[in-house]
Amino acid sequence: MSLPIAAPSSKRPAATNSCRVCAPLGSVLAFRGLRGCMPLIHGSQGCATYIRRYLISHFREPMDVASTSFDESATIFGGQSNLAAAIKNLVQQYRPEVIGVCTTCLAETIGEDTVGILREITAADPDLPPIIQVATPSFKGCQHRGFHDTVEAVLRATARGGARLPQVNLLPGPVSPADLRHLREIGTAFQLPLLMLPDYSETLDGPSLASYAPIPEGGTSLAEVADAGRATGTLQLGATLAEGPGAYLEREHGVPLVKASLPIGVRATDAVLASLAAFALEAGGPAAPALPAWLGAERGRLVDAYVDGHKYVSGKRVAVVGDPDLAVAVAGFCAEIGLVPVLVASGALTHRMAPALELLGLPVGSFEVMEDADYDGIGRRVAELKPDLILGPSKAYPTARALGIPLVRIGFPVHDRIGAGRILHLGYRGTQRLFDEVANALLGDQQDSSEMGYAYQ
Ligand code: SF4
Repeated sequence: MSLPIAAPSSKRPAATNSCRVCAPLGSVLAFRGLRGCMPLIHGSQGCATYIRRYLISHFREPMDVASTSFDESATIFGGQSNLAAAIKNLVQQYRPEVIGVCTTCLAETIGEDTVGILREITAADPDLPPIIQVATPSFKGCQHRGFHDTVEAVLRATARGGARLPQVNLLPGPVSPADLRHLREIGTAFQLPLLMLPDYSETLDGPSLASYAPIPEGGTSLAEVADAGRATGTLQLGATLAEGPGAYLEREHGVPLVKASLPIGVRATDAVLASLAAFALEAGGPAAPALPAWLGAERGRLVDAYVDGHKYVSGKRVAVVGDPDLAVAVAGFCAEIGLVPVLVASGALTHRMAPALELLGLPVGSFEVMEDADYDGIGRRVAELKPDLILGPSKAYPTARALGIPLVRIGFPVHDRIGAGRILHLGYRGTQRLFDEVANALLGDQQDSSEMGYAYQ
């Protein structure tokens, strides 16, 4: 069955089927990786509802997110009293260790002085828990920007300098809980104490509990973040970040910054592991091997899988959609295994995707980049380019279905499958999973469209 794709239009006065997810959503996600943190969205209530709904449908976890619930009066005269009342209620009901306040488009549009209001609120009540504020209007950026700005706000509010410690700050970006767990496992293999910020590996993918925990266990504590300014170095993942939170630590506290693309594919994972090995040496901890044995074994199995599956993927054309850092890293992996990325698209606007792809070795002119894209535009371009495969979030499904192209689900959001939080993208292991899924999607499509069908390939 095929569904119609909208006819191309020359003018685009509005986004249709937006690919952008709003900035406070990225902020809430990052705040969820702080221990004992309750996110509070300063603005209208619908924003909080949308953000909760979107996150719950992806992670399949309960998600309490507070809102200052602007009404007409707050919209005109400001939401100072709403913010004060919300903080008071939160403290009474949730007893948070920290409150994360992010602003909506509405609060920013009316020019709300959220910093000044919070200064007054905290001065009037010294017993309040720490409150971290970040401005996240979605006209400034999308989920990606909101996430990284929040990590930087946490570091600005908390990190302190001092004598160096044998630990490394790992800023992973908005990856899955399974990715976070795997990164921690890799850090342990290098015998390297990692300060991972944020860490929502447990808060957004925790075990079943006998009673409801409004603020789930897990996350990085503010006490841990305080040491970020004393680390041996920072490893910041994300190829499209111009500066990012790691640059703040370098400027303010002299913590050396290493930037890397997300470790997807053999080459990208080798690069990240080499950085961790170098940090481990510099930190002067117990001598760890350059490549721990189990990681070496996973690398070997992955290379073997590449050899086995190359004939099924080589030369196939692919469209990649997602958060800019994930889309770039996945396109790099595609090129590594012989797929031909013809379109790399994101709802974010970074102006850095094309140079990042070229740095990863994709031949200039061989691929098309769409930034600030919506799914209507992506669908029309996919219809013209006719790739064999799409890798992207579940929002790409209508396009995939309409055009009869297999979709491998990655990134955020994945609303039409369970286990989205357990999708492992990173490391040799995550790449292995992705490679198998890509090869099998192509094999399955070929098999389904074969006139005779076959059961042996
Ligand atoms: S108005 Fe802004 S903050 Fe609210 S849901 Fe829309 S994009 Fe997000």
